[in-house]
Amino acid sequence: MQTFRYQALPTRVLFGTGTLSALAGECAALGVKRAMVLTTPQQADLAERASRLLGSIDAGHFTDAAMHTPVEVTERAMEHLTRIRADGIVSLGGGSTIGLGKAIALRTDLPQIVVPTTYAGSEMTPIIGQTEQGRKTTQRSPHVQPESVIYDVSLTLTLTSGASARSGLNAIAHAAEALYADNGNPITSLMAEEGIRAITEALPVILSDAGDIAARGKALYGAWLCGSCLGQVDMGLHHKLCHVLGGSFDLPHAETHSVILPHAIAYNRVAKPAMARLARALATDEAPWTALHLLARGLDAPLALRDLGLPESAIAEAVEIACANTYPNPRPLDRAPLELLLRAAWVGDPPSEY
Ligand code: NAD
Repeated sequence: MQTFRYQALPTRVLFGTGTLSALAGECAALGVKRAMVLTTPQQADLAERASRLLGSIDAGHFTDAAMHTPVEVTERAMEHLTRIRADGIVSLGGGSTIGLGKAIALRTDLPQIVVPTTYAGSEMTPIIGQTEQGRKTTQRSPHVQPESVIYDVSLTLTLTSGASARSGLNAIAHAAEALYADNGNPITSLMAEEGIRAITEALPVILSDAGDIAARGKALYGAWLCGSCLGQVDMGLHHKLCHVLGGSFDLPHAETHSVILPHAIAYNRVAKPAMARLARALATDEAPWTALHLLARGLDAPLALRDLGLPESAIAEAVEIACANTYPNPRPLDRAPLELLLRAAWVGDPPSEY
């Protein structure tokens, strides 16, 4: 029998379609009287919608959230927060907007009401990554775990099928690595398997009909479960490589996850029970890394790092950075097989047994 520790994370979740209408009620339940609404510039219209729902609770908007949570943007948002005397944060969007809300919560401990519109899963984690002078650092803090999450499936309908595929593969990566985490446990593994199954079933349907509400609901439910896995246990090689490629070479987040996932899973094939569970969740008789490659290819997701703008000359440096710190992973990080892995991922080859 396995001995394990399970840490439940204290976020209240409302899940459904049209649930954004509960926004003012969620603010009131948390005692928020002056909410600051956050979005990216691309989703500023969503701030206007939230404003109509919030009425007098709406204290003002900040619509400059950006990828990788630049500290310079957070500082501007903090000035705005002070000016409008907000006592709560409403984050509407994907991981970039949620990251800004978390950065503010880290500095102020104000309550966060989060409405996620991608499958990245940040709303379910106490993790915050911030970028300053080109360096991204990540930390865990209970202060950044959102108090309330409203999943409104209808808000994901505008996510293009391409963006949905990339974001869904990003979610699968959280759950796949949870299956072999050092501090994994049976509860997180249950969520991981169910999350992978739900997203894997939903994404092909979304590719053929981006407006299929049942598939959208299944994908968002899967994203919730996969995000919970990321919040609860430590991630391994896959997240390490994506962090290096995003943080040091400025590659885009979800796209990098799409490319690396099958290769990182192939590298970690020694984790046999996790591989068996992953294959079951993917409903495949193939090796799970092959199934993930075929899934990404079938979804027209990016397969090659060179297509994301990584120069070939960066591979050796990326290997060095990845090997510089020890990291929990089922297999040690060795330079030679990692270089083979990154070369295959750079070209877009199928994964092999590195
Ligand atoms: P994103 O938030 O950067 O969104 C990408 C673009 O899509 C943005 O322009 C956004 O406005 C737009 N968008 C989002 N939802 C949309 C929708 N429904 N319809 C139309 N457009 C929409 O992308 P992301 O992949 O969700 O987040 C990436 C960021 O999140 C990275 O910085 C990553 O490090 C971070 N992240 C953090 C955690 C964590 O636990 N801390 C977890 C996952 C991701």
